[in-house]
Amino acid sequence: MRQGKDVIVQGRLARDQWEGFPDILLKVAGKSKFGDWSYEIQDTKLSRNTKVTTIIQLCFYSDLLESIQEAVPKQFHVVMPGDGDLKPFQIDEYFLSEFKAYYHFVKNRFSEAMESSPMDTYPNEVEHCSICNWWSDCDKRRRLDDHPCLVAGIRKSQIEELKSKISLRWNHLR
Ligand code: SF4
Repeated sequence: MRQGKDVIVQGRLARDQWEGFPDILLKVAGKSKFGDWSYEIQDTKLSRNTKVTTIIQLCFYSDLLESIQEAVPKQFHVVMPGDGDLKPFQIDEYFLSEFKAYYHFVKNRFSEAMESSPMDTYPNEVEHCSICNWWSDCDKRRRLDDHPCLVAGIRKSQIEELKSKISLRWNHLR
């Protein structure tokens, strides 16, 4: 960012205990602590319907970005699947509205959860797994456990049924 690169892919944004890896940091006009340029976030998604979780994620990245470049980004973009069209979102619409309180509420709850005693979790397969950075770790764990989700074509309800029937073998799974 200091060097004014036009595009930064998977750049790490970090402040205090927080960090994020937006898909793209795009150089735009506008002053920042780096010079006569600043950056905005672009993130690729698999769905054309932008979910509130995506908005929170990109607000969070933009929040981190603001503290690093010392300039408020004007907008962030979701890169649409298929044609790669950009869907713009104006930061002010979120950070100058009631949404800001909701954003901080979610962020604080996340922070409290992370600070409390370790959570009992299991890497059950979800839609996001296919693009998740932790996929190989989670996949390794499922294979080690011989998890029923590895059976081709198995449905979630069937997994639940199997787990309840064979609880002795899979009693550590959820
Ligand atoms: S790969 Fe693991 S960490 Fe990533 S979404 Fe799937 S279960 Fe969660």
